[in-house]
Amino acid sequence: MRMTSQRKSILNLLSKTSQPKSAEMIFDEIPNHTMNLSTVYRTLDTFFEQGIISKSTMHNTSYYYINKKDHHHYMICLDCQKMYEMDCHLDVFADQVAKEHHFTITHHDMTVYGYCESCQQKHIEK
Ligand SMILES: [Zn+2]
Ligand SMILES: [Zn+2]
Repeated sequence: MRMTSQRKSILNLLSKTSQPKSAEMIFDEIPNHTMNLSTVYRTLDTFFEQGIISKSTMHNTSYYYINKKDHHHYMICLDCQKMYEMDCHLDVFADQVAKEHHFTITHHDMTVYGYCESCQQKHIEK
């Protein structure tokens, strides 16, 4: 992949934060808006396909974060959008299924959705 300065600045923004960011949030933080929003989207798509970043989707908005080696996933409250980091335990399981189907995994993606302690009452009938 060609590492253009645009790609570099998006990766820089994502690596400086532990909070997943939407394309709009990334766009807002680009100094002088040196690229347009659709370039941000396209670049994020490319990164995602190559497994450089992961995403979680909430209310039709995707939030992106860097895929580290010992990466983690997110558990997200659908109401207040609070995010909790989760360790990944998927690799061993995924490898096993992949082997059965002669599938080659490039990367994976996982998000857990629900309601945090303070939002549960409103949403879940007891
Ligand atoms: Zn909540
Ligand atoms: Zn994982």
